Amino acid sequence: MRSSTLETASAPSPVTLYAHGAETLKASAALVCIEVACGERYALSEVLYQCPRCGSLLEVAYDWRGADSTLWKQTWRARRMDNQALNQSGVWRYREMFPFVDDAAQVVTLREGNTPLLQSPGAAQYAGLHSIAFKHQGFNPTHSFKDNGMTVGVTQARRIGRKRVACVSTGNTSASMAAYASAAGLTPVIFLPHGNISFGKLSQALEYGALTLQVDANFDQILALVRQVSERSGVYLLNSINPFRIEGQKTMGLELLDQLDWQAPDWLVVPGGNLGNTAAFGKGFLEAYRLGLISKLPKLGVVQAEGAAPFYRFMLDPKPKGFVPETNPETLATAIRIGDPVSWPKAWNAIREAGGAVESASEQEIADAKAVIGRAGIGCEPASAATLAGIRKLVAKGVIGADEQVVAVLTGSVLKDPDYIFKYHTGQLKTPGGEPIVSTFGNQPMVVPNDADAILRVLDGVA
Ligand SMILES: *Cc1c(COP(=O)(O)O)cnc(C)c1O
Ligand SMILES: [Zn+2]
Repeated sequence: MRSSTLETASAPSPVTLYAHGAETLKASAALVCIEVACGERYALSEVLYQCPRCGSLLEVAYDWRGADSTLWKQTWRARRMDNQALNQSGVWRYREMFPFVDDAAQVVTLREGNTPLLQSPGAAQYAGLHSIAFKHQGFNPTHSFKDNGMTVGVTQARRIGRKRVACVSTGNTSASMAAYASAAGLTPVIFLPHGNISFGKLSQALEYGALTLQVDANFDQILALVRQVSERSGVYLLNSINPFRIEGQKTMGLELLDQLDWQAPDWLVVPGGNLGNTAAFGKGFLEAYRLGLISKLPKLGVVQAEGAAPFYRFMLDPKPKGFVPETNPETLATAIRIGDPVSWPKAWNAIREAGGAVESASEQEIADAKAVIGRAGIGCEPASAATLAGIRKLVAKGVIGADEQVVAVLTGSVLKDPDYIFKYHTGQLKTPGGEPIVSTFGNQPMVVPNDADAILRVLDGVA
C-alpha cells in the first residue's frame, strides 16, 4: 500500500530502528523537570509543557548507561549511504540519541537536516578570524532549522494520537509546523498577531495548508489564549517550549560534529530569540561529551538584536531571579524579535556548563554582516546574520581568539525576507525606530539603454 503521508510505510524492507545499546536507553527516557530542587519525572506520553509541580521547564532525559557510542558513530556514517527514509533524514539518522519512537511508521520526515558546513574566507576576514564555517540550516525543507525540531514534535503528536497541532508564531515555526503536520495527515492551526507578519513565511503556512487565525492581540496574549484553547480542545501545542522539538534540534549539533569527524570546534554561535536553539545545541553537545563522542565541549556564543536583548542584559549580571523581559522588543530580524524568551533557564544552564558569551548587535551591524554573508555566495535571513555581527564584536574584544575554530549557525534562508534585501541594497532600509540604515555593501541594480556599446562601457567601468 502506498501512502503519500508516510514514506516509511512504503519502504522496501522494515527499518532496524535502533543500534545496539539504544533499547535500554529508550526504556529509561522520561520528561524531567530542569529545576534541580524539584527534579520531578513524568512519562513521555504525558502532555506537559511545564512541570505541574513547580512550573519550570521540562526536558527529555535518559540514563546513558549501556550506550554504545563507538558503534553508533559507525552506524550513523553507514546510514548516509542508505535509501530508507529514516536514514536519509539528518535528524532521524541520529535517533539513538533520542530513542522514544516504537515504530518507524510513526515518524514523519521530509528529509530534514543534511545541511552543509560552508567555509567563507571573506566572512572570516570580516570577523577578524583566520577561518569561519557556517552550518546553514536554511537548506532544510521549509528553509529554517525549525524543521529539525518539528519532525520530532509532530511525530510525538501522532504517537500520542493527537489530530490537531497548534503554535503561535509570525514566522518560521508556523511554516515548518504547517508542512510537517500536513505531511503527517494532521491539521495545523496557526495563531498570528494581526498585522506585523513576514510575508514569505505566512505564504508558506498558507501553501502548506494551515488553518491560519489572525488575532488582535500581541504574541504573549495569544500564547495565553492558545494554552487555554489547547487544554479545552486537545490540540497539541508545538511552540518552542515543547521538549520534543528540542530533542530534534539537538541533532544539528550531532550532524555538525559528524561532519567535523567528531573534532569539536572551539565555538558554536547562534542567534538568540526564544533561546530554544541555544538550549538544544547545549544539550546535544553535553550528551555527546558525556558519551565520549567528543573530548571537549564547544563554547556557546549567543547573539541577540540590540532591540530585543533581554538575555544579553541578564548575562551581564546573572542572578536566579534576575531575568527581566523586554516589554517592547523591536528588530528587523523578526525571527529573534522576542521579549520574553521561554527557554532562558536552559540556555543559562548550557552556557554555565560549556562556557561561552552573549553579545548584542545593532540593526546596522546585522544588516552589514548579512550582506557580507550574501557576498560570500551563501546568504541567509536577517536573524541568522546576527551571528557574524556578534562574532566580529567578540573577536574585537578578545573573547574569541583569531585562530579559534568558530562555527556560526545560519538559521534561515536568504529568501525568507526578500523585501529587507532589496531595501538594504537600494538604500531604503530603516530601523524599526525610523533611522536610516547605511547600505555599506549596497548593490544597486542599474538601468541601461538597449545598446551594446553602452552596455560594454558599463562593463568596462565595473570590472
Ligand atoms: C526561530 C529562529 C531563530 C531563533 O531561535 P530561538 O530558538 O528562538 O532562539 C533564529 N533565526 C531563525 C531564522 C529562526 O527561525
Ligand atoms: Zn518541577
